[in-house]
Amino acid sequence: MTRKLPTFLSENEHGLWMTEDERENLKIDYRIKEILFEAQSTIQHVMILDSYSFGRMLVLDGAVQTTSLDGHIYNETISHVPLSIHPNPKKVLIIGGGDCGVAKEVCKYSSVEQIDVVEIDPMVVEVCLKHLPEVSGGLADPRVNFIFDDGVNYVQNPPAKYDIVIVDSSDPIGPAEVLIEKSFYRSICNALKDDGLMVCQSQSPIFHGEVMEQIFERVHDIFPKTKMFTAVVPTYPGGLWSFTLGSKGYVIPNAARMKELDALYVNEQIMASCFSLPEFMNKQLSKYR
Ligand code: SAM
Repeated sequence: MTRKLPTFLSENEHGLWMTEDERENLKIDYRIKEILFEAQSTIQHVMILDSYSFGRMLVLDGAVQTTSLDGHIYNETISHVPLSIHPNPKKVLIIGGGDCGVAKEVCKYSSVEQIDVVEIDPMVVEVCLKHLPEVSGGLADPRVNFIFDDGVNYVQNPPAKYDIVIVDSSDPIGPAEVLIEKSFYRSICNALKDDGLMVCQSQSPIFHGEVMEQIFERVHDIFPKTKMFTAVVPTYPGGLWSFTLGSKGYVIPNAARMKELDALYVNEQIMASCFSLPEFMNKQLSKYR
């Protein structure tokens, strides 16, 4: 008797599969060992699946957000680049970040006194702390405050100014669509101290080149300094992933800081080279230089 499966999952003679409908002509199939959690929240469809090739994975509305195989590559890159650039970060705001992986990395800095995580969906935090310890680390640091709200609302009227804002959002569709609007980046700029800086994930240079450039252009129009850096995250379509930095001042990473850091991906060489872009990206962004 075939069991009723949640959307995005199917079963055949080879087992249970999760299909990520990446785009019209590209679908990615993951063979699944076990469904650890599955429910519809007030915001989106939430699953934690145990897969054969990527370990445990967080899936929102059928899109894989992070996995225990390589979540650290993304979380370390989006955290340690801004934290090695700012000379003395004390207040850090994370928009999105419900899997807690970014907050876990920010907690590695003793200078940081306050970490506010503004996540729209409390269910994501709850299930990642319970079922995705490889990514969330079971985060329990007293400096971390969870605020369950839409990031757009929060940054329009934040209770304090921040040194660093990290936008760890899902793809810019559904609830995260608003997190690439120019008005959102302007609010972030106003929520930062005079020497503050922000970073956001800016999608795949290969498959989402237009969106990547749109994000870079909007940040560039608002911040005095804008730069792009990359990392390779096998879980994400095409692997190569981009990040955009908007700064009111500082832009040079203090790579030496990586020496003391317990990390699996970032180190001094990665910190020094992640801003070196392939030629096609340099050409695409040259008009903003
Ligand atoms: N690293 C992942 C990626 O690049 O796809 C994203 C990780 S994290 C899980 C993304 C989080 O952003 C999700 O938990 C989602 O609920 C949250 N999110 C989406 N839209 C949001 C919004 N408007 N305000 C705050 N959080 C939001």
